[in-house]
Amino acid sequence: MVFSVFREKMLVAGPCSAESFDQVMATAKGIAGDFPTAWFRAGVWKPRTRPGSFEGIGEPALQWLQEVRKETGLRIMTEAATAQQAEACLKAELDAVWIGARTTVNPFLVQEVADVLRGSALSVMVKNPLHPDAELWRGAIERLSNAVSGEVMAIHRGFHSFETSQYRNPPRWQVAFALRSMMPQLRIICDISHIAGTRHLLQSVAQEALDLNYDGWMVETHVRPDTALTDKQQQITPQQLSQLFAALEPRFSSTDDPLSKELLKQWRQQIDVLDDQLLQLLHQRLMLSEKLGALKRDQQISIFQPERWQYILEEMHRKGTALGIHPDFIRNLFMQIHDESVRLQGEMINKADNKVS
Ligand code: PEP
Ligand code: MN
Repeated sequence: MVFSVFREKMLVAGPCSAESFDQVMATAKGIAGDFPTAWFRAGVWKPRTRPGSFEGIGEPALQWLQEVRKETGLRIMTEAATAQQAEACLKAELDAVWIGARTTVNPFLVQEVADVLRGSALSVMVKNPLHPDAELWRGAIERLSNAVSGEVMAIHRGFHSFETSQYRNPPRWQVAFALRSMMPQLRIICDISHIAGTRHLLQSVAQEALDLNYDGWMVETHVRPDTALTDKQQQITPQQLSQLFAALEPRFSSTDDPLSKELLKQWRQQIDVLDDQLLQLLHQRLMLSEKLGALKRDQQISIFQPERWQYILEEMHRKGTALGIHPDFIRNLFMQIHDESVRLQGEMINKADNKVS
């Protein structure tokens, strides 16, 4: 079976929208063959950019999902964006609901949905908000965790961006890392379809999620993607879904091989030592920034010196790339260090001002 190599990972698959009973059932049967443990998704109410396009079948489609569960044993879920929709999902005894990206941005709506679901045992998967705000994402997860007794999980579906990108919603892996460090027990899956936006990028995004040890994937799957009423460029057939998983390079969170285990342990210890040294060096550098701040204050020199900053950036870029370090990383790292240095120097001035007043 294609999916059994991935042990504890989860898969959510199914069409962007439920369009007809036949489309939903044929897709579910196609998925259940190779993925009997999958969760079946289908949007019943669709958030659309402009009015007049297909906005979903609505409540009648919930019965189709119930038929899917009866027929295939897959667990069933849809998106709930309002109190009424959540109510209908409870009545239809779905196994889970997901909170869409446009809902996560709005704590009022999230709270309304959470209030309706209060006391229920269904699971909830919370997509990231449209913009990269880990705190807002966390807040939505907390509202739902406080309400339901089922598991609450997160879905990384990429973020809206004004910059042109090959992705529909470029992933921001570090935002999801930030969420994971706030909530270490939280399972996070990756919605590769809404990140990619187009079929040919699905494989690499799925692999990246696996490499980063995501807990699973959401993949929009449709028996006839080319006729899909929503998101047709990004949907794949159940057969292509099987091919995608067969082509993934497996990665596991641990290994049984004793030599590799020992190497992992040793290298991690070395990394811990280096991280400590990095912190010490940063501390020393920031102490110097404070001294600089005091001197600049006394000599009435402006804190920000563009030529000096340009010099540092260029030097670090030159030396870093000679060492084979990615230039974006160097730039981001030194921007962060420089920001903190400027902040500390500003603080020196404020301290002096406070003394005077
Ligand atoms: C969807 O999953 O079909 C959907 C509308 O997702 P998002 O909220 O990520 O745009
Ligand atoms: Mn979609």
